[in-house]
Amino acid sequence: MDEFSRISYWTSNQQDEKLLKRNAVKVAIGDDAAIVAGAVSEDGSSKDFELLYTVDTMVEDIHFTSTTMTYAQIGYKALASNLSDIAAMGGVPLHALIAISVPGHVSAQQAKQLYDGIYECANTFGVAIVGGDTTSSPHNLVVTITVVGQVEAGTAILRSGAKFRDMLVITGVAGKSAAGLHLLMHPELEQEISPELSAQLKRAHQLPKPHLAQARLLRESGVCHSLNDVSDGLASEAGEIALASKVDVIIEETKLPISDSLSRYAALSHCSALDWMLYGGEDYILIGTIASQHYKELKRSFQQLGMQLYEIGYVEAGTGEVWLEGSSWQSQHGQSPKTQRKRIERKGYNHFT
Ligand code: ADP
Ligand code: MG
Repeated sequence: MDEFSRISYWTSNQQDEKLLKRNAVKVAIGDDAAIVAGAVSEDGSSKDFELLYTVDTMVEDIHFTSTTMTYAQIGYKALASNLSDIAAMGGVPLHALIAISVPGHVSAQQAKQLYDGIYECANTFGVAIVGGDTTSSPHNLVVTITVVGQVEAGTAILRSGAKFRDMLVITGVAGKSAAGLHLLMHPELEQEISPELSAQLKRAHQLPKPHLAQARLLRESGVCHSLNDVSDGLASEAGEIALASKVDVIIEETKLPISDSLSRYAALSHCSALDWMLYGGEDYILIGTIASQHYKELKRSFQQLGMQLYEIGYVEAGTGEVWLEGSSWQSQHGQSPKTQRKRIERKGYNHFT
């Protein structure tokens, strides 16, 4: 198949005209560039809305392997992780460009499955795929996705807005994706757990949902001061907020939400659920800080929409450090866990070691 028939095989009839229209797309795939109704006026102001741009590259054997993910899952997750970056700004994703470098070992059908995964994610979250680029690759499959989103002018939530005495919150359970990857790499453990538990953990790794609805609620609340998405683990993401905001962030270990599935699987595999939460990553939940007096009300709004919000710590004056407070190792020594803390490194998780 030549390049043009490939592109057409991957992309034609994948999206509803209505979706393209709603996202102001005038010309999508097929010309030299996509055309979208402009949001920036001639004097350079963007009046009501601001645009968000983000791009991420995923390289086979570094970010994913086809042994733990199907091609459809690779495509889905590649777009989902980009949409998560838009969520982390409190924004709404609109358009995406897909650049793909395909090695000889990936067949046209497998590349089509990758696109089916990309489009499943795009259609679920209302994103128009408006173009891309295609090349061959000598060894590895490389997928680079650019996403453009928007946010009402002045309302984007940055990493740098955390304030002294803010409450630290997350929008889901961290660590499940790392547990799912562990299970995928230790298939012998599969027989020791229920099919439901296994499916749940693997799903968390293979098909993570970007928290766009949660992002919207946080932005509309007007009380969320800083926000980040969890691509590299809570320690690293909290550290980025702490550094950008020039504060210290304290994670209270006893408050970290843990699901039954996560704790059961950690016990069975002799792994630390806490390590998965702090250093695991790829959960694509959101971590942020809010004015603490609004927590109860905000949590209620989340629950009314079937979503979760958890308090996991707080913000102090400081210099960009992250602390873990009230950990189990201190109570062993008879100290009050509440008053003890240790500084945690902002290391992420290395998937292939
Ligand atoms: P050009 O040579 O002008 O760069 P291309 O042949 O690269 O044009 O692309 C033709 C059209 O197909 C463009 O609209 C481009 O955005 C789109 N396109 C190319 N590759 C991909 C891809 N992998 N996924 C989606 N759209 C693509
Ligand atoms: Mg091109």
